[in-house]
Amino acid sequence: MQVVVNAATSVDGKLSTRRREQVRISGPEDFARVDRLRADSDAVLVGIGTVLADDPHLTLDDEDLRTERTARNEAPSPARIVVDSSGRTPLDARILDDAATTYVLVSAAAPSERRDALADAGVEVVVAGEEQVSLPAAFEELADRGVERLLVEGGGEIIFSLFSAGLVDELSLYVGSMVIGGRDSPTLADGPGFVGTFPDLSLRDVTRIDDGVLLQYDVDGRGTA
Ligand code: NAP
Repeated sequence: MQVVVNAATSVDGKLSTRRREQVRISGPEDFARVDRLRADSDAVLVGIGTVLADDPHLTLDDEDLRTERTARNEAPSPARIVVDSSGRTPLDARILDDAATTYVLVSAAAPSERRDALADAGVEVVVAGEEQVSLPAAFEELADRGVERLLVEGGGEIIFSLFSAGLVDELSLYVGSMVIGGRDSPTLADGPGFVGTFPDLSLRDVTRIDDGVLLQYDVDGRGTA
């Protein structure tokens, strides 16, 4: 499976404010770039923290991109995936509507009522891991279900865990011209942080987009906490 992480941060590396409210970091040209990245993916993944904070829809905005996908015999929008150990995804979350297939990755500790409620709402529930979702095991299951190109759109906890597990192949980071600040504001990679080894990034491209910069990296190796 090819895993691409895409995120937008302020110049000080923050994904959003200390209140975890969504901030408009990029502009129209970058939104179009992200829509294209989604269109070229089999699925788009976020953590439950992002679902609870932003209630994202994660489908394609551009009608032409949906038409291109259907011409390739693909669903109009990629599948959506939530990493959610205990099955907390609200049943009225936008990500659960019928605009695309939705997977919720839960752990064995997720209460059966939550799993059943999600399944009744049309969700494909995938169990991986005991207490927290095991991302390597979940990704194997997703690969068996045909997910070959996966786009990860945050947040900071999930991105850290993916770097930690050595599961990231590429990082696209849009750095907007703003300072958000705040020691408690989420950053690109949160979790406990790396102290031993750090994921090895090699810079492939730098592009000015809107009033910011897109940095594209190939990723090798994993970080150790
Ligand atoms: P997150 O990374 O979206 O989700 C984290 C949650 O995922 C954890 O609390 C955990 O909850 C669950 N999880 C399950 N298995 C996990 C695993 N193996 N490793 C890590 N987490 C796992 O949440 P976040 O870090 O709080 O980020 C949300 C913030 O990021 C919001 O403020 C949002 O606005 C912002 N955001 C910004 C961008 C951007 O590009 N600027 C993109 C996305 C999000 P359980 O233990 O309950 O499972």
